[in-house]
This record gives sequence, C-alpha cells and structure tokens, in this order.
Amino acid sequence: MGVFRKRNILLATAVLLTCGGAGVAWNNVEDAKAVTSALIAPPPAGKLKEIRQTEPVIQIQEPEKKSTQITTPAPARPSVTMPPGKAVTNLDYKNGEKVIYLTFDDGPGPYTEKIVSVLEERGIRGSFFWIGQRMTEAYGHIGREMTDAGHVIGTHTMHHASLSGKSKSYQEREIKDAIRAVEKHIQVPSVYFRPPYGAMNDMTKRIAADEKQYVIYWDVDSRDWNLAKHPEKIIDNVLQNVRPGSIILLHERQQTLKVLPQIIDRLGKQGYSFAALPKPK
Ligand SMILES: [Zn+2]
Repeated sequence: MGVFRKRNILLATAVLLTCGGAGVAWNNVEDAKAVTSALIAPPPAGKLKEIRQTEPVIQIQEPEKKSTQITTPAPARPSVTMPPGKAVTNLDYKNGEKVIYLTFDDGPGPYTEKIVSVLEERGIRGSFFWIGQRMTEAYGHIGREMTDAGHVIGTHTMHHASLSGKSKSYQEREIKDAIRAVEKHIQVPSVYFRPPYGAMNDMTKRIAADEKQYVIYWDVDSRDWNLAKHPEKIIDNVLQNVRPGSIILLHERQQTLKVLPQIIDRLGKQGYSFAALPKPK
C-alpha cells in the first residue's frame, strides 16, 4: 500500500445554513464568513480533514446474485435546502434527533449486497458513492432495488480520480462520465457527489454546482480502508467521534462489512438512528 497523508483544511468555523422543511440544517465550513455569528455552531473537534488514501485497485466484479432481498418499506426522507457545489460535512437536526448518516465509498462491488443486507436487517438506509467505471447492468439492477428501497446512490468519479489540481476538462469528464454511467444503469437521477480522497479545488466545486451536484464530505473518518488488520479500530474511530448529524465515511470493504453490525448496534444503544442523505429541494 502507499502512503497515507492527511492535511487539515479549512476549519475556521462550522456554520449552520438555515433551511426550511424538516428542521434540518447543513453545516457548511466554507461559508463561515458569510453567516452571522448567531448561527455559528461549534466545529467538530479537528474533524474535517482532507484525506489522501491509497489508490484502490479497480476490479470489476459481477455480483453473485441479482437480488438484495429488500423487504422493509422505504422510509420517508426529509427534504432540505442545500447548496450545490459546497462541501457538506454534517447535518444538524434542530429538534434534537440523534440522526447520523452512514456513507459507503468505492462501490459497487462484491460487498455491496452484503452491506445492504446488514442495513436492511436493521431497517436502516445508507448512502453509497459509486465509481462510474464499476457500473454494469447487474449492478444497475441492484442499484435500482436499493434506490427504490430508500438508499441513496451518488457518484465518486469515473475512475476514482484525484481531482485537485487537474484541468477543467479532466475534472468535468471524471465527474460527468460517472453521473452518466450510474444514471444510465440505475435509471435514477444521481445528485450527490463525493470527491475521491476528499481532494477537490474551486474548479471542482464550480463543476459540481453546474451539474447540480451536492458535494458530501464527512465529519467522522473511520479509516476503514487502512484497517483490514485492525477492524476493532474502525469501531473506535466511529464511536469516539460521532455526534448527532454526523456523516460517517466508510468504504465497501470486507473489514467494514465485518464490523458494521457492531457499529450500528452500539450506536443504536446510544440512542442514534440512521438515515439516508435527505432529498435536496
Ligand atoms: Zn474512494
């Protein structure tokens, strides 16, 4: 494996951008200066980091079966006003609900259905950021079942590309091709985007805004991709950093599947509930 580097990025202030609907607010660190102090919320302690992961090996594998056996009805998803092209790290529920968001990167792949099964067994929904290159008709079928059941599928570039510092044409191609590939196969609009490695620049944000994409970061990094030999640390990373409204970064990996039931069950005992990312208005 390669080198793991991290770098603190802008975290002057976390901000509540007010919005209507179900009492939900987006925390957006980038608009800190533009919002009155009355709306300023305390930042997650040293949470927002730009993560440089090792490049994953892209192996396209067909799923073993074609049904995720989703049996529970899709729960209602609140809709929120959110700004396209701005990095979102946390969602606050003003009414005190301890709602958190499990997000899974780098699929689809051999663990997609197993992860969905773990979620479904507990009646909860997750959000997935898929790589365009991995899309096949079979995964499209699975993706349609997932979105019908209330899970969310966003994109993660066409080739798991690191976008920061790349040309406009390269970034546009990576982002748009992935959206086209995912939408073509799942036949559902894809409006959420997560840049691989968390690497993006102002141009990435402009492209995302032009494409009406909502950029989803995270405030809890499980580091699961690097903890295959120490899966118990994945649990610690989540449990020690979670707070209401947290967006938790996970990946479609074997070690993640292994600890996912424990993560969900232990958070549930702490009073947390889980939701897919809300619908944008
Ligand atoms: Zn990734």
